[in-house]
Amino acid sequence: MTPERFDLVVVGAGPAGEKAGAQAAYFGKHVAIVDRRDDPGGSAASKTGVPTKTLREAALYLTGFRRRDLYGAGMDLGPETVLEHMRARTAEVVKLSVDAVRRNLERHDIEFVQGDARLGPSRIVRVATPGGERVLRGEVVLLATGSRPFHPPGVPFEDPDVHDSESILELERIPSTFVVVGGGPVGCEYASIFLALGAEVTMVERGPRILPFADAEISEALARVFQGHGMRLLTDATVTSTGRVDGALTLGLSGGRTLVADAALFASGRAGTTEGIGLEEAGVRTDERGRIVVDETYRTSAEGIYAAGDVIGPPGLASAAMEQGRVAACHAFGISFKETVDPLAPLGVYSVPEVGMVGMTEDAAREAGLDVESGRAPFETNARARIAGATDGLVKLVFGREDRRLLGVHIVGDDAAELIHIGQAVLHAGGSIDYFIHSTFNVPTLSETYKYAAYDGLQRLSRHGS
Ligand SMILES: Cc1cc2nc3c(=O)[nH]c(=O)nc-3n(C[C@H](O)[C@H](O)[C@H](O)COP(=O)(O)OP(=O)(O)OC[C@H]3O[C@@H](n4cnc5c(N)ncnc54)[C@H](O)[C@@H]3O)c2cc1C
Repeated sequence: MTPERFDLVVVGAGPAGEKAGAQAAYFGKHVAIVDRRDDPGGSAASKTGVPTKTLREAALYLTGFRRRDLYGAGMDLGPETVLEHMRARTAEVVKLSVDAVRRNLERHDIEFVQGDARLGPSRIVRVATPGGERVLRGEVVLLATGSRPFHPPGVPFEDPDVHDSESILELERIPSTFVVVGGGPVGCEYASIFLALGAEVTMVERGPRILPFADAEISEALARVFQGHGMRLLTDATVTSTGRVDGALTLGLSGGRTLVADAALFASGRAGTTEGIGLEEAGVRTDERGRIVVDETYRTSAEGIYAAGDVIGPPGLASAAMEQGRVAACHAFGISFKETVDPLAPLGVYSVPEVGMVGMTEDAAREAGLDVESGRAPFETNARARIAGATDGLVKLVFGREDRRLLGVHIVGDDAAELIHIGQAVLHAGGSIDYFIHSTFNVPTLSETYKYAAYDGLQRLSRHGS
C-alpha cells in the first residue's frame, strides 16, 4: 500500500499532540493526528484534567461546602441527586472540551484519523482504523501517546471499590468512608472532592508530608486545612495489603494498623503509554523506566521522530505537554517561533484550597547555597478573603537577602492556581519584592496579599539585619 504523505504525523490527540499539530499547521504544514479514541482531546479532556476540575467545581457548588458555614445554609440535596448532577455537568464539560479540540483541528485543516497507530521503519505509521488499515508517512512523526494510571503490584483493581485515577470517575455512589492512597496532586484533589461530598476521608502518604515537592510550609498549611475540615492524614505510612475481610474492603498499613472503607483510590502516579507502538522497530530508545528518551529539542533517538507530553516523563502536566508539543514542532520544521519550554513554569494543584507554586522553594534555595529570606501573608488578614469566607492559606515569597530578587512564590488558598501567575510574571521579569511594595493592587482582592507578604519580607530583612 502506498503511504499517504504528510509533513507531520502525530500519534495521540491529547494536549501535546493537538498543540504540536496546530503549531505546525499554522506555519503551513500538512498534518494528520491519529488517536485510538473516537474523540480528540486525550485523557486530559475526558479522563483527567477536565473531568476532575469539573467534579471539584460541581461538588463545591452543589454541597455549598465552606460557604454553608458562612450563611448557615447549604444546598440540601441527597447524595444520589448530587452524584447525578455532577455526572451530568462533567459529561457536558467534557463534550465542550472535546468539541473545542475538534474545532481547533478543523480550523487548522488537520486530518483526525481514528485508529490504533503503530510505528514502522522510515517514519511509517500504520493505523488500524475501524474500516481497515491506513498507512501514513510523515516527514516528521511526533509521539504524544500520553500515560495511564500506574498500578502498584498486589492491589486488586478488579474489585469494584478499588480505583485508580481514571476508574474513580465511574463511581456509582458517594462512599461514606473513602481512603486515598498517595498525597500527591491527584490524591489531594480527589480527597478534597470527597471531603466536600461529605465522605469520611483518610489519606495515606508514604512520606513525611503531602505534596513532597512543594515548599514545606505550604504542604504543612494544606495538611492543617485538610485536618481542619475533618480529614484523617496518615503520613510515613504505606499500604501493605488490600482485600476483602468478611466482605469489607480492608487496607493493611505498615505498623499493623488496618483501615476499612467503602472505597479506595490509589493515586500512585502514571506510566507512559509506550507498549505496542513499535518503538523498537522504529529505533526509538526508552529509559529504564520505559519513558521515551528525548533531547532538549524533543528529538528521540530515531531520525525525524519526536516525542512530547506524559510519554517522556515528568512533570506529567497538560500545561507542560502543550508547550513541549509546540517546541517540538518548531524544532522539527525549523520554525523560529518557540525554541524552549518555559523554565519558570508554574504548578497548580486543584485541591480545596488550591496550591500554586513557581520558582524555588525556600529549602531548595538554601540547598543551592543562596542567601535567602522569605515573607508571608495569611489570607485571614485579607479583606477579599474575609468577605468570601476563604481565609485558609497564605502567600509566601522567597527572595535573595542581598538584592531582594524574587526566587519563588508559594501559595495555598482559594484561586492559588490563578494568583501564582502574578508571581510568575515578576520572576520572568527578574523583579524583586519591591515590585509588590510599589504596585497598587485593587482592593479588595486576593492579589493584594502579595503586597503584605513583601512587607513581611522587608521586616524580616531588617530584623535579621540585611
Ligand atoms: C486526575 C488527574 C488530573 C489532572 N489534572 C491536571 C490539571 O489540572 N492540569 C494539568 O496541567 N495537568 C493535569 N493532569 C495531567 C494531564 O492529564 C496530562 O499531563 C496530560 O493529559 C498529558 O497530555 P498528553 O498529550 O501527553 O497525553 P494524553 O492526554 O494522555 O493523550 C494521549 C493520547 O494518545 C492516544 N494514544 C495512545 N497510544 C496510541 C496509539 N498507539 N494509537 C493511537 N492513539 C494513541 C490516547 O488515546 C490519548 O488520547 C492530570 C492528571 C490526572 C491523572
